[in-house]
Amino acid sequence: MKTGFFLSAIFSVLFLGAFSQNTQSLVEETVTHSGVQAKIEFIASDELRGRDTPSPEQDIAAKYLATRMKEWGVKAAPGMDGYRQKVNFKKVTPPSSGSFVVKDSSYALGEDILLLGGSSANLEAKVVFLDYGSEEDFENAKVDGKIVVVRLGDKGEPNVRKAFGAGREKRERAAEKGALALVELYTSKQIGWKIIKNYLGGPSISLDMGEEKEEGIPHLWMNDSYNTGADFFADKIGKAQLNISGATTNRFSAYNVIGMVEGTNPDLKDQIVVYSAHYDHVGVGQPDAEGDTIYNGTRDNGIGSITVLEAAHNIAKYPLERTSMFIFFTGEEKGLLGSEWFVEHPVVPLESIVMCFNSDNAGYNDTSITTIIGLERTTATEAFVTAGETYGLGTIADQMPDQNLFDRSDQVSFARKGIPAVMYTMGVTAFDDELLKYYHQAGDNPDSVDYDYLFKFTKAYVHACRLVGNMPERPYWTEGDKYYEAGEELYKTQ
Ligand SMILES: [Zn+2]
Repeated sequence: MKTGFFLSAIFSVLFLGAFSQNTQSLVEETVTHSGVQAKIEFIASDELRGRDTPSPEQDIAAKYLATRMKEWGVKAAPGMDGYRQKVNFKKVTPPSSGSFVVKDSSYALGEDILLLGGSSANLEAKVVFLDYGSEEDFENAKVDGKIVVVRLGDKGEPNVRKAFGAGREKRERAAEKGALALVELYTSKQIGWKIIKNYLGGPSISLDMGEEKEEGIPHLWMNDSYNTGADFFADKIGKAQLNISGATTNRFSAYNVIGMVEGTNPDLKDQIVVYSAHYDHVGVGQPDAEGDTIYNGTRDNGIGSITVLEAAHNIAKYPLERTSMFIFFTGEEKGLLGSEWFVEHPVVPLESIVMCFNSDNAGYNDTSITTIIGLERTTATEAFVTAGETYGLGTIADQMPDQNLFDRSDQVSFARKGIPAVMYTMGVTAFDDELLKYYHQAGDNPDSVDYDYLFKFTKAYVHACRLVGNMPERPYWTEGDKYYEAGEELYKTQ
């Protein structure tokens, strides 16, 4: 302990190279080849049956992560009794029957119309057509007690992904003005109606934030492949009937696992660095050619979970100047839900978290590097590059911007709140066949990975954790980043 204290006192005046060398010997004290392999073999084992959310096997994984942290002296977060944060979910099964009857035509739910929001309806009301349903369109419209029909998306904007967000806004506008339902005419050729039907037709899992955030007026998409709907509805068509019934909601819980190690520097320990990974995967599913039905999720994200667990071990033994928080998220595969729950129910004030260093993987196709999604977006770049170099690994930034990876894993929940965030991932240069061979496949087994590489990869992660937790300057967004302003807002009182 004495040596550690002495060294940390003089480090601030030494250059990163010397600092890094000592860091390496600390990392190698706890991270071993067999230790990394054994942990991955456990968390990605067939016995854990793909760690679906929710499942008894995921709870076993949570127990494993918690008990290892306890063994090493990692503490529970303040105010928590134990290492588990309960996350509430709901599973909504779409209505089994419904129809929208206009004049003498009847449109069936699940065929011609799909429900995006709300769960039931039994109403007869006048129909009003409001073009794109923009703020302007709603301004002087009388929609009280009526069914509002609009076109999909924004004017001149055929992007379906964006149409989801635009639709939510229209629905709020309609509800605010007293409308009974919102129907959007689906004309997009970009993604055909058939695909949308399959996508929206099944049960969906979301967070259960409590009653006040639920329901709202029915919101529907209606197939308008021939693009004749607008003319039809614009021509005063009088009353229509909307009936929807048979939706069910089931509630359940799963757990985020959280541990903490207090910082050693009185001036820096109020700053918390989050080291995180999701530990859930997709469970058991369709058999592959070998008859394997267990989607082990070794790469996604057994490996990421173990990098964070190894960091917890190492930092518990040799604490950093900043406070460290280790979070293992549930429900990532259901839509980043565990991390969203955490930032909406943080166990410490969000503004005390200075960075989220998330570890998540789809797979790898280059064992000479690590990939950092968001590498150039924060001021911690040098720490990541140095950590990789120490173990002979190059560091590259996101090579697949079209995959939008930054916004597809848990770090984005933090980034949206303004917290600087990056994603650590195995060497990947393209979403190629080598990657797709294992990505969300039953064959992603623990015996299919290169443990020599993973040993280096894990050491580099733990090393980077140590460098970030000890950086003299707190890490921050680089100027002009998409989330820079959100950061200014979050930390404005500091
Ligand atoms: Zn993942």
